Amino acid sequence: MDYYSKHISKLIEQLSYLPGIGAKSAQRLAFHIMNMPREQVEQLTQAIQGARENVRYCKNCYTLTDQELCPICSNPKRDHSTIMVVENTRDLAAYEKTGKFEGVYHVLHGAISPILGIGPDDIKLKELMQRLQGEIKEVIIATNSSLEGETTAMYISKLIKPTGICVSRIASGVPVGGDLEYIDEVTLLRALEGRVEL
Ligand code: ZN
Repeated sequence: MDYYSKHISKLIEQLSYLPGIGAKSAQRLAFHIMNMPREQVEQLTQAIQGARENVRYCKNCYTLTDQELCPICSNPKRDHSTIMVVENTRDLAAYEKTGKFEGVYHVLHGAISPILGIGPDDIKLKELMQRLQGEIKEVIIATNSSLEGETTAMYISKLIKPTGICVSRIASGVPVGGDLEYIDEVTLLRALEGRVEL
């Protein structure tokens, strides 16, 4: 079954572990890389290694950053009493692109999914609850409108309710099952502005 040299097979295999890359795409990418100038390949490998080695979680909101605190958490102009809870850093980026949200974020790194065996302890939920010890006015839950996103939103609102902090959920308008990162900015803004208290 080994049509290719060991090195190419290995590259194809590694590429095929990436999300969204099937066997065919992995082959195509591998051959593309083979035809790239050497320097460009070096830049690519250095970029991958550099990102992996230098990027970490912000110690406050858990987004990916290369500082101890991300630029949003360390910005005194942001409203630190309003926290928007998102599933991942890509969703945070989508809301940041609208340029209209003045608060700060909390990145869960996933959503609760009984089917996949992902429970509350597997996402950054304890960390969110710890942040709520501070002076927080509102928590806006902006998880995806998938089954997992809704389950997570419900779970979080039940946890927060007793603390007396206002909990809201972004409005629908975000299509059901829709991934936040693919939704246009106008729709995101509308969802944010039309959020409802839980
Ligand atoms: Zn942060």
